[in-house]
Amino acid sequence: MKVEFYRHNIGVKEIKDVSRTLHSLFLTTADVTSAFEKRFANYLGCKRAVGVNSCTEALHLSLYALGIGPGDEVITTPLSFYATANAILYVGAKPIFVDVEKDTGLIATNLIEKAITNKTKAIIPVHMYGQMCDMKKLHQIAKRHKLKVIEDAALCIEGKREGIRPGQLSDSACFSFHAIKSITSGEGGAIVTNNKSLAKRLKLLRLHGISKTFKERHQDKKKRQDMIELGLKCNMYDIQASLLLNQLKRITFFLKRRSSIYKQYEKELENNPKIFLPYIKKHSKSAKTMFVIWVDPKIRNKYLINLQEFGIGVDIKYHPIHLSTYYKKRFGFKTGAYPIAERISNSTITLPLYPKLKNSEVNYIIHCLNKITRD
Ligand SMILES: *Cc1c(COP(=O)(O)O)cnc(C)c1O
Repeated sequence: MKVEFYRHNIGVKEIKDVSRTLHSLFLTTADVTSAFEKRFANYLGCKRAVGVNSCTEALHLSLYALGIGPGDEVITTPLSFYATANAILYVGAKPIFVDVEKDTGLIATNLIEKAITNKTKAIIPVHMYGQMCDMKKLHQIAKRHKLKVIEDAALCIEGKREGIRPGQLSDSACFSFHAIKSITSGEGGAIVTNNKSLAKRLKLLRLHGISKTFKERHQDKKKRQDMIELGLKCNMYDIQASLLLNQLKRITFFLKRRSSIYKQYEKELENNPKIFLPYIKKHSKSAKTMFVIWVDPKIRNKYLINLQEFGIGVDIKYHPIHLSTYYKKRFGFKTGAYPIAERISNSTITLPLYPKLKNSEVNYIIHCLNKITRD
């Protein structure tokens, strides 16, 4: 049997929608993008959404629009995709890593204050595997030290913790529509915020800092245009938005199916002494975008290979950012700098978890895992 690591949910309706856009005039950022932004903000219970071309740029643009730059420090976690820390480097600021909790992989909020200096300007928490960080606590820390909070919610459109959702207790929350995420346009991203003036600024700066959109210029007889500030170029466009609209309608259905697979994995694996599962906190509803198992680091690679020999698509999400060649060279990080993140990463096997995964495939994966870990 061959089980893919991921399969997206683009179907007949999305293809019809994108085809309609392809037959339209604008293609770029216009009405379909606006429609998606409205519905996305609405889904998240936030005032505004701003479509961009990736979560990486959502993070970059958020930092840039909030005025974070050279000389500033931004606190984040080493257990994430490189994008989280890279965005900090793009604006000329310095990432300051804080280790994670050993049972969840989320940034250890009790270690954050020790990492704050007079240069610290912001915190980027990452909602790992789909579970939200403790936003209430982060919000308090941020208020106390006058820091901005930008959430990396690439894996967490659907999550909720103690009644709080991404974007509700922060300056902005950043999302990804990359092919492996819960809804996708191949590549894409968005920012949500409750701050209307920040949203306006994000819209200005996602397109060079030009005062008028392409459509507005198209319709303006005098063809006026002005560039007010130096912006980036990372606007979402209508082709992307038309792929996303119908998936957003089905997002709860997708979550239900992933949750049911997640539950089955949990039930069948929780008694396996070789396998540990990340803990989902009480009063936390994970978006369940990733199913991760933690095994003894000494045998992880063997299991990883065994699973692939059985035809099962796997991955390691994520490698510790600070131990990548670039970060080691630039900042001098050594093994052991963030021991919990490193241990989690060295223990991790990320398994398939997506709505199109069939029951027979889930059973097969569980069967193979139990067999491998018995030998
Ligand atoms: C996928 C992902 C990103 C990057 O998203 P892109 O849209 O590919 O830029 C950032 N952070 C996390 C935690 C992710 O999983």
